[in-house]
Amino acid sequence: MSKYTGFFILASLLHFLCAMIRAYFIFLLTIVLAGCEEVDRLLGQSSKKPKIEYSYACLDSSVSGGTMNRRLEQAGDLIRDLAISEKKITDTLQTSYGTAFHEDAMQTKMFVINKDPAINRKLNEVLNRLLSAREDPSEIRYAIYALRDTMVNAFTFGGRIYITGAMLNKCAGKDELLYAIIGHEIGHSEVGHIKATIQDMELSNKIFGNEKGATFFQLKKLLTASFNQKNELEADYYGINLTNQLGYDVCAAVTFWKQMASNENRYNRVEDFFRSHPFSEMRATCLSTHIITNFNRNCGNIKPKI
Ligand SMILES: [Zn+2]
Repeated sequence: MSKYTGFFILASLLHFLCAMIRAYFIFLLTIVLAGCEEVDRLLGQSSKKPKIEYSYACLDSSVSGGTMNRRLEQAGDLIRDLAISEKKITDTLQTSYGTAFHEDAMQTKMFVINKDPAINRKLNEVLNRLLSAREDPSEIRYAIYALRDTMVNAFTFGGRIYITGAMLNKCAGKDELLYAIIGHEIGHSEVGHIKATIQDMELSNKIFGNEKGATFFQLKKLLTASFNQKNELEADYYGINLTNQLGYDVCAAVTFWKQMASNENRYNRVEDFFRSHPFSEMRATCLSTHIITNFNRNCGNIKPKI
């Protein structure tokens, strides 16, 4: 063995040793970092409120037709994914869509706004309290209006919330219901339903042009009726969580949907609002289950789990 060979073996051994030490330190560092992350996670969790559980199993009843709903939902998701890859819809853009919609509605006299100061003061108070209770607020700018309308209804677009006189009558003396209804409308914006709607609108205009785009948009709306049901329930949960957080009686919404259920046939056929919303009885059941699971409060008359 020449002295060069000896040197080469020694150098190789040293190199191998260094590589082992380096690997050992990297391994050690990884473990320490992972451990730190776990500790952070546990600390973060312990300082937070109990996690809210969400269930949509109640929509899969024989009334809503589970399998068909899931298929339609998948179709809706597919269209939505396409739309998402097309363009990012910012909170600012959503707000400007809301402004444009509102201005158009005023110009074409689509709505008659009730300017009664007491009503508007009340609505703004409820809106602002709900907005301040949001956990991870968007930057969407909100505004609320009372409409002179005899149909029990509430709806929203781009941060503008509209609530009819008939709905306000239903809420008379029941702040807890008003909070749940307005909270529901805020939920549509905060969890991204309006964003998805705008994406659909932009995508359909891009593919089909303005005129045909509108048709595509309507078709998609019909096709994804079940997707709407899930959205409605998601917004219901959002509204009820905020209502609970502000200390109001969460069972009022359950009572409201039970009442609406007794009028279902009458309303159901007349207005889009009631077609796109889950059947009221089912909605009351879903809400009752959500309330008993998360807030340990029994609103009574809960059907067995499906
Ligand atoms: Zn809704």
